[in-house]
Amino acid sequence: MSEDAKIKITIDGISTEVAPGTTILNAARMIGGDVVPPAMCYYSSLEGSGGKCRTCLVEVSKGSEKDPRPMPKLVVSCSTPVMDGMEVRNTTSARVLEARKGVVEFLLINHPLDCPVCDQAGECHLQDLAFEHGLSKTRYEFKRREFDKVDIGEYIKLHMTRCILCYRCVYTANQLTNGREHGVLKRGDAAEIGTFIEKNLNNDFIGNVIDVCPVGALTDKSFRFRSRVWYTKPMDAHCECTKCSGKVVLWMIGDEVARVTARKDAYGEVKDFICNECRFEKKEKTDWIVEGPRTISKHSVISANHYEREIPKHTILLNKA
Ligand code: SF4
Ligand code: SF4
Repeated sequence: MSEDAKIKITIDGISTEVAPGTTILNAARMIGGDVVPPAMCYYSSLEGSGGKCRTCLVEVSKGSEKDPRPMPKLVVSCSTPVMDGMEVRNTTSARVLEARKGVVEFLLINHPLDCPVCDQAGECHLQDLAFEHGLSKTRYEFKRREFDKVDIGEYIKLHMTRCILCYRCVYTANQLTNGREHGVLKRGDAAEIGTFIEKNLNNDFIGNVIDVCPVGALTDKSFRFRSRVWYTKPMDAHCECTKCSGKVVLWMIGDEVARVTARKDAYGEVKDFICNECRFEKKEKTDWIVEGPRTISKHSVISANHYEREIPKHTILLNKA
């Protein structure tokens, strides 16, 4: 098949054409909306990511035009390539919804009831997943895993109890930094994120592990417990930076910069990773050229109650008078 050739795939009754080699998940993202399976570990810009969390399971009800037999087991959409004529069921499959409920239950087995104090609340993929697919109570009767909170470097605190072992932070560090800084130590029920031989995470781009973490396991020490994220105002801003693109989101409380993050797309993924200096050191509004309010395209509490344009201060004063 030539490189320009397209192959047809139908997901939940909606058809599209994609390039050979495209995964089911990425084909679904090209369609958009409800046909897109959730993904807690896959991250399109991180090589090797995917295949860990099983939340993106889908049913292949027709294998291809050549071989229309359905696939007997559910498949992970993040690493299964499409075949010409393939038909896939996501939210229209009771088997998928049942399996996803089971996966969420597994992800929550050791997870603490931390949402009221967790910095990730309001922008947490696990919260969204539990809301959409989770059970209202746990059936788990055993003692949960416990860990102390660990300072891993100058800027980041690890709450291992919240980690779902998606490996995204490990791939981010492998890809963006020169040395291998940390990884998943031990295996099975004992597995945990660790900095080998007490090594700190302190290179120029390591702050990006906070943005890629789908839960509140890796927290920004300059923002921890400062505010619930829905009380902040996200603004697009940029600066001249010699290390990164300098394109960020400022999370403002009044005129104060409470937090700086990279910009994320509708799937919560960062395309332009930012350096530590932009993220942790430039905390004055004057450090930035503010472009205007950021539209948060993700369907979440984080996109609620934000105005569409910056209101000049004098307007607020006039309205109060
Ligand atoms: S990581 Fe998400 S689900 Fe877990 S405590 Fe934090 S906000 Fe809640
Ligand atoms: S710390 Fe976060 S990004 Fe790293 S493996 Fe755990 S959940 Fe994934």
